[in-house]
Amino acid sequence: MASLLGNLFILAAPSGAGKSSLIKALMEKYEGNESAPMQVSVSHTTRQPRPGEVDGVHYHFVSREQFEALIEQGVFFEYAEVFGNYYGTSRVTIEQTLHRGIDVFLDIDWQGARQVKALMPDTCGIFILPPSLEVLEQRLNSRGQDSEEVIAGRMAQAVAEMSHFNEFDSVIINDDFATALNDLESIVTARRLRTMKQQMRHQVLLDELLGNA
Ligand code: 5GP
Repeated sequence: MASLLGNLFILAAPSGAGKSSLIKALMEKYEGNESAPMQVSVSHTTRQPRPGEVDGVHYHFVSREQFEALIEQGVFFEYAEVFGNYYGTSRVTIEQTLHRGIDVFLDIDWQGARQVKALMPDTCGIFILPPSLEVLEQRLNSRGQDSEEVIAGRMAQAVAEMSHFNEFDSVIINDDFATALNDLESIVTARRLRTMKQQMRHQVLLDELLGNA
């Protein structure tokens, strides 16, 4: 897999860190940019769709039975149970996309990240943190409609997820959104420019420059 032209990225974060907004902004910025094609992997999940979520766009929504059958068939590159539901990434889609030279972003939790790192050590793991517990709590309670108990539960889950930050290659603190987006872009660009990938991408130019044509 190390010889694949595309780069594989993992983005993990506690909920409330702003991961989805950062991924969305990155995709919008690079939409149609042929020199840096990228896409977000669409996972399978057994959780119910939220209002506005579209099957095949946000997730492939499947039943528990269907998911377990897919596990049996070896469909998943990684999968995990998160908050009582299964989530998983399809192997074939990722491999085909990376083969085509497209960077793939996995929006997954730390358990999935561990599995992916073990299978593909070349994967770039990025962890996004909020700037403080206060801001995290505000973001988790942005609608102000949830009970203290519900918020406390979400905070505990967030702290549990954050405790895995040091299993990742890079950490972004999402305080100022534009700065965090810039940090994310810098990491992505640096990965794309690694010699191994540039050599694959620009073989014709290199042959010409070095007189091997
Ligand atoms: P949500 O239900 O809020 O969309 O996602 C809940 C958590 O599951 C998030 O941390 C998200 O990153 C994680 N997740 C989403 N898709 C996958 C996946 O395919 N594999 C794993 N391991 N985690 C996932």
